[in-house]
Amino acid sequence: MFLADSMKIAFYTLGCKLNFSETSAIARDFAMSDHYDIMKVPDKADIYVINSCSVTHNAERKCRELIRRLRRQNPVALVAVIGCYSQIKPRELGSAVKVDMVLGSQEKFRLFDIVEQYRNNGILQNCEKRPEFSEFFPAWSGDDRTRKFLKIQDGCDYGCSYCIVPLARGGSRSDTTAATIDSVKKLAAGQVKELVLTGVNIGDFGKQHNETFLGLLNEIDKVKGIERIRLSSVEPDLLYDDIIKLVADSVKIMPHFHIPLQSGSDKVLKEMGRKYDTRLFARNVEHINSLMPLACIAVDVIAGFPTETGKDFKETVSFIENLPISYMHVFTFSKRENTPAAGLEKRFHSSEKSYRSNSLKELSKKKLNTFYRLNKGRGANVLFESNTFDGFISGFTSNYVRVKTPYSPDLQNNICKVLLTDFSADMQFDCKIL
Ligand code: SF4
Repeated sequence: MFLADSMKIAFYTLGCKLNFSETSAIARDFAMSDHYDIMKVPDKADIYVINSCSVTHNAERKCRELIRRLRRQNPVALVAVIGCYSQIKPRELGSAVKVDMVLGSQEKFRLFDIVEQYRNNGILQNCEKRPEFSEFFPAWSGDDRTRKFLKIQDGCDYGCSYCIVPLARGGSRSDTTAATIDSVKKLAAGQVKELVLTGVNIGDFGKQHNETFLGLLNEIDKVKGIERIRLSSVEPDLLYDDIIKLVADSVKIMPHFHIPLQSGSDKVLKEMGRKYDTRLFARNVEHINSLMPLACIAVDVIAGFPTETGKDFKETVSFIENLPISYMHVFTFSKRENTPAAGLEKRFHSSEKSYRSNSLKELSKKKLNTFYRLNKGRGANVLFESNTFDGFISGFTSNYVRVKTPYSPDLQNNICKVLLTDFSADMQFDCKIL
């Protein structure tokens, strides 16, 4: 039974940059077909696709709420939930809310074929058996002319005790350096100004091909047409000195590091199953600062890991206070079923968890203020973005300082030399265009 010559399909992404790049890749399959109009949620559509996240309970709750909202808005539409939540809890998804299609982290890349079959003969094929995590599906994010997220790696072999990602995305895998460089060259031809290399554990790139992340960076550094390369988070034990040196010597790879610390207590790091200690972490940060004193160093920290005592937390705070970093991403511990940490008994009252999280957020504000003061009065190159607000246009320096200036069309999507004058409470610098 032929269903329709043309269908409206809308995509929505929850979670990380990796998910955004994958949604764009999946949506591109539909955009290349004459039978689909790509819409944006909450536009009215025949099919809604939610690329889900399962990193916290909150992410899963947001997904269920969105499904209910879309159902109310268009009861006859088809709702497909793909990605990590579908991979981890397909039955819960199927029972808690009415979903027509549940595709895990591998099958989601077959969405176009599955929907085409449905459009042609009204049969909706759901994947009973989850395929093995063997294949690497390349992806990059869509519309933005200024910056694109390029997926270079997927999955993780680390198995940190609190983390659900290996269950959601499988073992570490990537394309070869040559295939990845082909994607970079394609994007360079599209005149994108900045590429953000993303994945789950990008430092592990190339492992199954006997290639290395450093090798890839050396090759990307040679590609003509891309002016800026930004790295997403690199595990501390994979952030080798020769990678730091390459960033210091490169004009393309930005002096901006995102390094997951998670705790400043070696005891807690051990209980988290992390592969480094605070001595190695501090050494990496010091080494970056010695080569690039104005480099931006963003750090992830988890507040409220079950076995973290008051003394451990104080250790974390004093470790970070003495570390020359720029700011933090503070995450509150979220117990994930089927992870080793799910069985750990909590050593403190829930109110203590939010106290720890808020204390770290306050400390992060202080760090960012110090970092911005270091940049005050300096010259910088800013890549102004395409969107404007209240007559202003904004962008980021190479070391990820946010800058705004009165809008002028010739600034859009251009890299300009500026003098950073002063910054406001919302942590944006005003500047003088040089
Ligand atoms: S390194 Fe650890 S925290 Fe990061 S994705 Fe892998 S298992 Fe999760």
